[in-house]
Amino acid sequence: MGLDMPTGKSVLLYSGGMDSIVMAHLLAPDVLLYVKHGQRYAAKELRALRRLVAKGHVDRTLATVEFPCLGKWEREDAIIPLRNMYFFGIAAHYGERLYIGAMSGDRSLDKSEEFLAKMQDMLNHLYQPQHWCVGRTFEILAPFKHMTKTELVSDYLIATKGNGDALLESVSCYSGDTERHCGHCKPCFRKWVALENNGIATDGLYDDNPWEAPWLSDVLPQVRAGTYRGREDGDWLLALGETQP
Ligand SMILES: [Zn+2]
Repeated sequence: MGLDMPTGKSVLLYSGGMDSIVMAHLLAPDVLLYVKHGQRYAAKELRALRRLVAKGHVDRTLATVEFPCLGKWEREDAIIPLRNMYFFGIAAHYGERLYIGAMSGDRSLDKSEEFLAKMQDMLNHLYQPQHWCVGRTFEILAPFKHMTKTELVSDYLIATKGNGDALLESVSCYSGDTERHCGHCKPCFRKWVALENNGIATDGLYDDNPWEAPWLSDVLPQVRAGTYRGREDGDWLLALGETQP
C-alpha cells in the first residue's frame, strides 16, 4: 500500500432529503456521500434516492457506503448518538472539504459549530504526516448554519427559477412504516413549514396533515416564545397562520 494522499475533493453528506437536494444544488460538491446505516427509515430513503436519480435530480457523483451497524443504536426518536461523527470519519476517505446540512433550528449537538470545529481538529490531527500518510488538511463546513429551512428553500427556488419539483420527490421522514411522508414526525413537519412558507403546494404529499401533529400543542408555548428552535420558530408560526408574511 502506498501513502494516503489528499483527494482534493469536496464531499456533501447526503440523505436524499430536502436539505440535501438544496445544498447539492447550491454548493455543487464533487461527491454526494450517502451512508446506508441501518436506520429504520432506510428503505423509504433509498426509494426516494432512486426516484431522484431516475428523474435526473442527482447530477454528480453519488457514493453509497454500507455501514449498517449504526442502526443498532437508533433510539425511539430516531436519533443515533454520534451519527455525524461516524459520517465525517467515512467522508474523510473521499475528500478534504466536507459539507454537512446543518441549519439554524437544528438542536442536536452533532450539528453544532463547536462539534464541527472539534471534528475538523480531530481529522487534521489524525491525518498529519506520518508513516502511512503524506498529510491531509480538512475543512468541515456548514455554510447554511445561519439560515432556516424556509430561507434555504427560498434561495433554492431563486437558483432554479422557481422549480421545486425535486423537493417534492425528496423524503425526510422518521416513520419507518409509511410509503412516503407520515406528516407527523418532526422532519415531516419542518419540511412542510419550509414548503408552505415558499408557496409550494403539498396536497397529497402527507398521510396526515402536519399542522395536526399530536405533539405540536405541547411545544407551541415554546415556539411562540421563540425558545424552541430559535429563528425557525417564527417560520413555524408563519406556516401555521399565526403571523402575517
Ligand atoms: Zn414523517
